[in-house]
Amino acid sequence: MKQRTIAKSVEIMGVGLHSGNPVRMRLNPAPADSGIVFVREDVNRQIKVAVENVTDTRLATVIANGDVSVSTIEHLLSAVIAMGIDNLEVVLDSDEVPIMDGSSASFCILFEEAGTADQNAVKRVLLVKKPIEIRDGGRFVRLSPGKINEIRFEIRFDHPAISRQEYRFVFSKENYIKEIARARTFGFLKEANYLRSIGKGLGGGLDNAVVLDEKRVLNAEGLRFADEFVRHKILDAIGDMAFLGAPFLGKYEAFAGSHHLNHLLTKSILSDSEAFEIVESESVKEAEKELERVFA
Ligand SMILES: [Zn+2]
Repeated sequence: MKQRTIAKSVEIMGVGLHSGNPVRMRLNPAPADSGIVFVREDVNRQIKVAVENVTDTRLATVIANGDVSVSTIEHLLSAVIAMGIDNLEVVLDSDEVPIMDGSSASFCILFEEAGTADQNAVKRVLLVKKPIEIRDGGRFVRLSPGKINEIRFEIRFDHPAISRQEYRFVFSKENYIKEIARARTFGFLKEANYLRSIGKGLGGGLDNAVVLDEKRVLNAEGLRFADEFVRHKILDAIGDMAFLGAPFLGKYEAFAGSHHLNHLLTKSILSDSEAFEIVESESVKEAEKELERVFA
C-alpha cells in the first residue's frame, strides 16, 4: 500500500476547548515521508507530531517546538489515523485545535470532503514484537503482538451513568466511522467549575462534551451510544498512538487508560529496539493484507 495524503486543502472554524478562542484550521496535502506537521501561522513556527515533542498530557495532548505549542490535538490525530493518512500539514491561527462537538466526526467529514491521494512511497507499519505495558496502580495500557489491529478498553467509574464499560474494537476505517467517531469527550460538572477557576475549559459546554453531575448526564439530547464513554476512550487511544509514527499491527489493551499512560507507552516502546520493527508494508505480506482490510 502507498502512503497517503489528502487530495485538496480544506478548512474549518471552531473554538478552542481550553482557551475559548475562535480558531481557523486548514488541512493541506504534504509530501511523502513528511508525517503530520502542525503550523502555527500566527507565529510562523512548525511542530511535528513526534513523541519527543509532547510537552503535556494532563488535560489534553500538547506538542511544542520551543515556546510555541499546539494543544488538544488528540481527536484530530485520531481521525487522521483512522483515515489512513500518513502525511498532512495542519495550519492553525491559534494554539489549539478546535473542539467541534467533542468527537472526531467533524474531522472525518472534513477528510471525506478533502479526499485522499496515494503518493509515490510505500506505507510503513509498526510491528509490535513483544508486549510492553505501563501500569499505574490498577490502571494499565499495553501493546502486544497480533495479526490484526485490535483495541480493547475497559473503564470503571463510581457513577451511575457510567459504572463499568468494556469495548472491543477491530480497527478499520469503516468501523471507526460507525462505532467510534461520534463518541464525545466527557467531563464532570465539578471539574468543569474547577477548570474555569484556573482559566481552562473556557470553550467547554454542553455542545462539545457529555457533562455529568453527581448522578446523571446533563445534556438534553442524552447519549449517542449507551457506552459512549468507553468508545471515546478508544477514540483518544487511537489518536495517542499516532505518536508511534506509523499504524501499528498488534493489540492495544487498557484498563482506565489516559493520555498520560498512552504517552508513556509510545515513549517506552519506541525506546526499546526489541519491542518493535518499522517495515514497509509491501515487504511483509501480513502487514499489507491488514492495511488493505483496515483502509479499504
Ligand atoms: Zn478525548
